[in-house]
Amino acid sequence: MSVATAVHGNYIGGEWRDGAETYRSVNPSNTSDVVGEYTRGDRDDAKKAIEAARAASPAWSRSNLQQRFDLLDRIGSEILSRAQELGTLLSREEGKTLPEGVGEATRAGHIFKFFAGEVLRLSGELVPSMRPGIGVEITREPAGVAALITPWNFPLAIPAWKIAPALAYGNCVVFKPAELVPACAWALSEIIVRNLAEIYGASAAGAFNLVMGSGSRVGDALVTSAGVDALSFTGSVAVGKSLAVKAADRFLRIQLEMGGKNPLIVLDDADLDVAVNCAVQGAYYSTGQRCTASSRLIVTQEIHDRFVAAMIEKMKTLVVDDALKPGTHIGPVVDERQLAQDVSYLEIAESEGARRAHGGERVACGTEGYYLSPVLWTETTPEMRINREEIFGPAAAVIRVKDYDDAIAIANDTEFGLCAGICTTSLRNAARFKRDSETGMVMVNLPTAGVDYHVPFGGRKGSSYGPREQGSYAREFYSIVKTAYILP
Ligand code: ADP
Repeated sequence: MSVATAVHGNYIGGEWRDGAETYRSVNPSNTSDVVGEYTRGDRDDAKKAIEAARAASPAWSRSNLQQRFDLLDRIGSEILSRAQELGTLLSREEGKTLPEGVGEATRAGHIFKFFAGEVLRLSGELVPSMRPGIGVEITREPAGVAALITPWNFPLAIPAWKIAPALAYGNCVVFKPAELVPACAWALSEIIVRNLAEIYGASAAGAFNLVMGSGSRVGDALVTSAGVDALSFTGSVAVGKSLAVKAADRFLRIQLEMGGKNPLIVLDDADLDVAVNCAVQGAYYSTGQRCTASSRLIVTQEIHDRFVAAMIEKMKTLVVDDALKPGTHIGPVVDERQLAQDVSYLEIAESEGARRAHGGERVACGTEGYYLSPVLWTETTPEMRINREEIFGPAAAVIRVKDYDDAIAIANDTEFGLCAGICTTSLRNAARFKRDSETGMVMVNLPTAGVDYHVPFGGRKGSSYGPREQGSYAREFYSIVKTAYILP
């Protein structure tokens, strides 16, 4: 096996391969810093990867379980032992702060460890039939070839939480990362394929493939190729919807995680410090570039003014700077296109009559980067576009409401349903909220962003489609149930 040094290639059928084109990944904190040069694959590369995965599938689906456990466990251990290095690469390439980057790398390691354990927990059921003497066995089989299309905002954790269960439950993988983060994808893939080759030798060539390239070429080839059995995607609603339509055309098994417009309700009986911490962390950390970010702060009237004042005080302490600098709270926006989108919403908010209470300014740091200070809007209404559309930046809007009933009605009045939070000291209000929220995840006195890796992740309505990701629930997507009737 040879590893390209200058240009980082794709990994297809057990080999590193350069494609026809290359491009550079750039550090959003410092645009003169080139992270590396990467191959941009095309449709043909995607097709070859699918063929390689298909060829490997029969053997991989029945591969030795001890070895499969060892593989995922070793990948997890290596990621954990290199978390500082991988986290630094992540922060340099994607722009979240170094503690966030190292935290994400660590989480990716833990995810592989968890799914190593899942290999040993594969099980079925044996039940008696209605008909005497007949036995019924319910077992799970791998879905087959899994295509995994991932976004840029969690460039290690999201690939990990798709790749690890795909391999654990016996699927072969074609991994297509987002174009903005090839360095993270390549580094993760290098760890996977080196350990794969060390444990299985050439016999598992094709079990894992990396195809970097654009969504319109590589991504589209994955959803339209008959050789793919299951497709898991995390990204925008528009692309998710187009994939679902194409998938339906050939009954492709599909799982989509898309946007959010997550509400955080702050009730009069909330602990103010808790509420401000939840709102600041949930809305602005990771530069607000999380599908679970709190973008609508729904606040009841008695606490409203105190909450806004405390938010502004807290926001004044946030340091916006180079992601790798110690002490930075908020790194840059990921790229120019995303920055332009964030800035366009500043104009939209103004034209709709929202008050910019704090932030929303381009920040000059020591290097050229896409820096924007977190913005808080007040005096906003639920119909405003800033309260309906996902901005995916460091931006949140306060909506003033009368009481809990008003708050929950507005919280649920959205096409999304990923996560919702409430800050309250009332057990009754917390219990009502857990029941009333039309989302896949609810948080009480916690930020909407920040979830564990061993429990299900996902939403309702326009946020998610298909079975849940993560934890043992991941097997619903990556395995298929078979019911066998046996007359001995
Ligand atoms: P984001 O704005 O977060 O990048 P996208 O939905 O554009 O969200 O991208 C998420 C992933 O989907 C990326 O890997 C991207 O390359 C891929 N993608 C984009 N367009 C398509 C498409 N038409 N078909 C398949 N994959 C796509």
